[in-house]
Amino acid sequence: MNYRHAYHAGNFADVIKHVILTALLTAMSQKKTPFCYIDTHAGPGCYDLFSALSSKTKEYEGGIEKIIRQDKPPPLVKRYLSAVHTINNQLTHSRFSSLRYYPGSPLIAQSLLRPTDRLVACELHPEEYRQLRSLFLNNKLAAVHHMDGFLGLKAFLPPAERRGVILIDPPYEDPDEFTRLARTLPLALKRFETGIYAIWYPLKEKASVQRFYQSLSQHVLPSILAIELTLFPDLPHHLNGCGLAVINPPWQFEQSLNDVLPWLWNALTINHQGGFKAFLLK
Ligand code: SAM
Repeated sequence: MNYRHAYHAGNFADVIKHVILTALLTAMSQKKTPFCYIDTHAGPGCYDLFSALSSKTKEYEGGIEKIIRQDKPPPLVKRYLSAVHTINNQLTHSRFSSLRYYPGSPLIAQSLLRPTDRLVACELHPEEYRQLRSLFLNNKLAAVHHMDGFLGLKAFLPPAERRGVILIDPPYEDPDEFTRLARTLPLALKRFETGIYAIWYPLKEKASVQRFYQSLSQHVLPSILAIELTLFPDLPHHLNGCGLAVINPPWQFEQSLNDVLPWLWNALTINHQGGFKAFLLK
């Protein structure tokens, strides 16, 4: 396991994923009944953007750094930014919002959960797991597991609450990752068919994404909303953009992103290349 997310922390793909996660958890909080958030590939939870790994690539300059400079973000982006400001204020002991730390998905989720909700996180890399565990050490509503996130789906589904959001965010180091996802999802849905699953994927090679879409629409029964945002036209072997496939999207979820996707694309775009779209795969 060589993948370290610190190289990419706060990049455009993280921003897109985390804003959509914010939208999903906001939608879930519209109902009073508690829900469970499951993060199958959680990462260390928080990133120091001045660390050797993050400073090597400085990918955050094309992501969160652009976002915090914008005037008048839409309400959902404001909610996401408040998690970014909170962690910076806590760790730098300052009331003035600067950008040094970037919260990962479990920390962003935690900022949006209510005291009745629950968080379950899986992380396989030993060092990332240690960091994540220490971040949530005193949090009784969070359970952090050193385990394969795909096995976690088996172990933790269905959640006792019978309401849940499951973020599946693998590193795609293995060329078979799309195939593994397409094989695992029907099994997860068998255990918890009403769960809301959000699967992040890179838009790199059109052919493998098309195969993934085909396989999802063949093997997954509930409706699937695909959300794509790209910053580059089809450059070969390049991260042109990313997508999130949301299985069982909440009611009117697509509409809730109407102002967010154009705003994000405008804030992140480089020379007005690429674009954004949300469409039903089925
Ligand atoms: N979800 C995180 C976020 O948004 O902040 C980023 C996660 S990063 C893309 C993927 C993480 O999955 C890495 O930390 C990696 O160590 C971990 N990982 C890789 N294979 C795994 C597996 N089979 N089960 C659980 N975690 C895994």
